[in-house]
Amino acid sequence: MSYNGILKHPSKRITTLTKLCSFICASTILTSTALQANNWDPSLSHDELVKLSEKTEVWGSVPPVVSTQKGKAPSDAIVLFDGDDLDQFEALKGGVALWTVSGDVFTVAPGTGDIVTKQEFCDVQLHLEWRAPAPIGDMIGQQRNNSGVFFQQKYEVQILDNYDNPTYPNGQAASVYKQTIPLANAALPPGEWQTYDIIFTAPKFEGDEMISNGFVTVLHNGVLVQNHTKIQGTTEWIGPPKVTPHGCAPIQLQDHGNLVSFKNIWVRTL
Ligand code: MG
Repeated sequence: MSYNGILKHPSKRITTLTKLCSFICASTILTSTALQANNWDPSLSHDELVKLSEKTEVWGSVPPVVSTQKGKAPSDAIVLFDGDDLDQFEALKGGVALWTVSGDVFTVAPGTGDIVTKQEFCDVQLHLEWRAPAPIGDMIGQQRNNSGVFFQQKYEVQILDNYDNPTYPNGQAASVYKQTIPLANAALPPGEWQTYDIIFTAPKFEGDEMISNGFVTVLHNGVLVQNHTKIQGTTEWIGPPKVTPHGCAPIQLQDHGNLVSFKNIWVRTL
């Protein structure tokens, strides 16, 4: 409503003035209530309130600057694969990682075995992108383009084409394999690139005793599917989880005999 509008329409002017008064009154009441709720002395000036507020400001620990670029690793990340080669990996059984690199993608070479990072990690934030190919024949359940990412070579977050492909839920994509069912099925159709963003907190050991479980948080295609999930132990195909003391260890990608592809993999140590 403009000033001219108020002059031209008395009935609207009254309405507008009523609304204005209501707003000011409400604001005053709210401010007063806020002051009381926060135990602020209403007689204090703005400058005095600012001085009080400064007492709880913390300036001693400034976060490092991390620059980001859409589709790229953050500036403080360790790039595990960005399209050049598999130099950051080696074969689990030793020697060069023999999976197939093509363009900015690499693909499991079935039968060559799992690959592992040369570097060992404890707590990390991991980003990876994966793609399951179109299923062949009557591939169903766990056979429909399976892989996995293992933290510390022991704890698998499942990679599986679960788009319209039921399997046991504690073994579907983004499960902590055979332990924790994901909160949602965020799978995209085969042939499409999917993202995992995972925060992994390593278990802690003192001697043979685990003094703190590991935890994992997973976003699948941006959807929260594991929310600070407690890791019970190793993710076994058969039998219950096992707890075995260990230190930092490589990240491992699974050769399950299927042509699952990967790209844009980076990790930040935490
Ligand atoms: Mg798997």
